[in-house]
This record gives sequence, structure tokens and C-alpha cells, in this order.
Amino acid sequence: MPVSACLVDSTALFRLKGLGLIPLMPLLPACQWAGKELLPSESEGFSMISPIERTINDHSLFTGDDFSRPHQILWHKNAYIESIGGWPKPTRKEDLVIIGGGMSGLMSAYLLRDKKPVILEQASRFGGNAKGEAWNGLQYSIGAAYLIKPEQDSGLYKLLKDLGISHDWTIKSGSESNVVINGKLIENFWSGNSEPNHQATYKRLYDYFMSFITEGGNTFPDYPTQDAALRRYINKLDQEDFYSHLERIVGTALPSHLTTLLEHYCYSSFAGSSKEISAAAGINFFAAEFSDVAVFPGGNSYCLSGFPQGLSGNTGYPSRSSSALLKSSTALAGVCTAYFFYAF
Ligand SMILES: Cc1cc2nc3c(=O)[nH]c(=O)nc-3n(C[C@H](O)[C@H](O)[C@H](O)COP(=O)(O)OP(=O)(O)OC[C@H]3O[C@@H](n4cnc5c(N)ncnc54)[C@H](O)[C@@H]3O)c2cc1C
Repeated sequence: MPVSACLVDSTALFRLKGLGLIPLMPLLPACQWAGKELLPSESEGFSMISPIERTINDHSLFTGDDFSRPHQILWHKNAYIESIGGWPKPTRKEDLVIIGGGMSGLMSAYLLRDKKPVILEQASRFGGNAKGEAWNGLQYSIGAAYLIKPEQDSGLYKLLKDLGISHDWTIKSGSESNVVINGKLIENFWSGNSEPNHQATYKRLYDYFMSFITEGGNTFPDYPTQDAALRRYINKLDQEDFYSHLERIVGTALPSHLTTLLEHYCYSSFAGSSKEISAAAGINFFAAEFSDVAVFPGGNSYCLSGFPQGLSGNTGYPSRSSSALLKSSTALAGVCTAYFFYAF
């Protein structure tokens, strides 16, 4: 929602990794002095802090996210505010402040770019759960890896086209699944070739999942929904756990590799077992895997790194990584947003 906002900018503070907060250093000297990572000035904007980390060259290390940096402040907010002598006074006014530079924040910023939004992102890099890295020029995702292939008349397709990246993807059919079970690669998993005695069960389950994405097949449990009939259907599926539901559909116990796949899938997607999530949630996620998917080099981070190009005509577009929201409160003039900015 577009709001008017004033920022309380405590850029006079910065944090050295492992050394806590050091107050009263002006921003620029702090950046130069810290010198480990170039911090973007607001006019430099987004491109320096793209969701894809391309500077790790020949390191073979998988770096992933760094959650520890902002936590020291965010989990001990009151002590932090006390340490800087209370809440600072507002210093700036902006028409629109977007908190969080993940997929949602960046897309909102793009769609509302005429408002020249300020994005505050607590991590050192934009992207949220859709970040990527590159090793020797090879881009890979460290979070969200692919999109369900968008229809040509969809809003998403138009957006990707707008960004000039609608043809940079590879389309992969969901049915060509290669799965690793107990460290062993199983190609064409759904043929049941890894458990030949259970091929009929594999086929029944494969057909069942395909039926949700095939025209004229089972209704896809798409939610949230305002549609009363669809809601009733989802409520019914919600009465059963995903695993029991599938066993009922195939009429037999699920073989071991199928069980392993479902457990890995559900733990990684829902942080729970297939026996702990509802059939509606399980089908909603898992059946979608059988659709054609669009995979970009670097996964979904690649879509996000298209935003700076899309915004290149808009030189006033400011954005800030390493800036975490501390508090926002409504006032007559709009919303007051306090954030801290740190270098390391
Ligand atoms: C391992 C994994 C794999 C996934 N795979 C896929 C996939 O293949 N395809 C798919 O479509 N989806 C996938 N998803 C889901 C997808 O990543 C998310 O739905 C999407 O990225 C969410 O975007 P978001 O902007 O809503 O949230 P987030 O990505 O969580 O972004 C929120 C942002 O807000 C920032 N933030 C939080 N608090 C503050 C604060 N106080 N101040 C400033 N900033 C703050 C965070 O640092 C973060 O960058 C996957 C998710 C995970 C975790």
C-alpha cells in the first residue's frame, strides 16, 4: 500500500563484524574504512547489490545466507535504542518505503516505480529467499529455483517480457524427474525403475498428480480462494493428512523410495512430515511440480536481477541493502519508519 513515510536514518551508526556497534561515524568514512564490501550509495542503487553474488570467482565454497549480522540488533532492539540515546528524530520524507527487498518487495518497487520507492533490505544482498551465486561464471540458485511456466497472457509473462528476460529460461517438463534417494541418482523416477515391484503404484500416483494439472482432470486445490465450492473441496481435503490420502488413492502402502521423496519434499517445503500436513497443502505444492517449469540461470534470483535493467530509465530509484526496519508507527503525516544501516 503506498504510504507517505519519513525515515529516521541512523546511518551515523555502523557495525563491525564481531565488534558490536560503534556509534557516531559518518557513513562514507565508515564504508571506506570497513572496505570489505562496497556499499551502494542511494544513487548507485540496485545493480551493485544484485540478488546474484557474482564475486566469489573460483572459491568452491557455498556461502548461503548470513542471518547473524542483523540479529544482534533486531533481537535486542530496546538495548540498541538505549545505546544510541533513544529514537533519533526523523530526517527525511519519502512517498513510498518498501520494507524487504525479496521477490515481493522488488516486484512492488518495480510496479510502483513512478513513486521512486525506497527499499530497505536488512540483508547485505537483495533477493530474500530468491538469491543466487555464481561460481566460475556458472550461476546457481541458493533458494527459489524455478517458476511454474507462465501462460503467455499472464501478468507474470508480461512482466518478464518487460524486463527483457522472457526467453532466458529453459523449460523443463515436470514428468522428467531425476531424484536422488540415499545419495543415488534415479533417472526418470516416476517410471518406478528403482522399485520395479511397485511400478503399478508409481504409475497410479503419477497419473493422480498429473490429473490435477490436466484439463478435465481433478480440480487443483488452489488457495486462498473466495469460491465457496472450491473452499468446500479444500476443506474436505484438509480432513486428511497428505500421506494417508495418497495411500488411500493408490489402495496400498507407499513403497520406500516414494515415501522418502515425499518426506524430503515436505520437510523442505513445509518443515514437517507428509503425515503432518493436509492433503490440500500437499497436493497444492506437489502436483504443481508436474507442470512445465521455467528455470533461469541462477534460479528466481535471475528474474530479480532483471529489475535494475527494467528500472534503468529511472535514475532516482533508491535502494538500500544492510538496512533493517526497527519500528514503524502511523502518524498524521504518514508512517514513521526507523531503520538502522550497518557496514561490516
Ligand atoms: C529453499 C527455498 C526454495 C524455494 N523454492 C522455490 C521455487 O523453486 N519456486 C518458487 O516459486 N518459490 C520457491 N520458494 C518460495 C519463494 O522463495 C518465496 O515465496 C519468495 O521468494 C518470497 O518472497 P518474499 O519477498 O515474499 O519474501 P522473502 O524472500 O522472505 O523476502 C523478505 C525480505 O525482507 C527482508 N526483511 C525481513 N525483515 C526485515 C526488516 N526488519 N527490515 C528490512 N528488511 C527485512 C528479508 O531480509 C528478505 O530479504 C522457495 C523458498 C525457499 C526457502
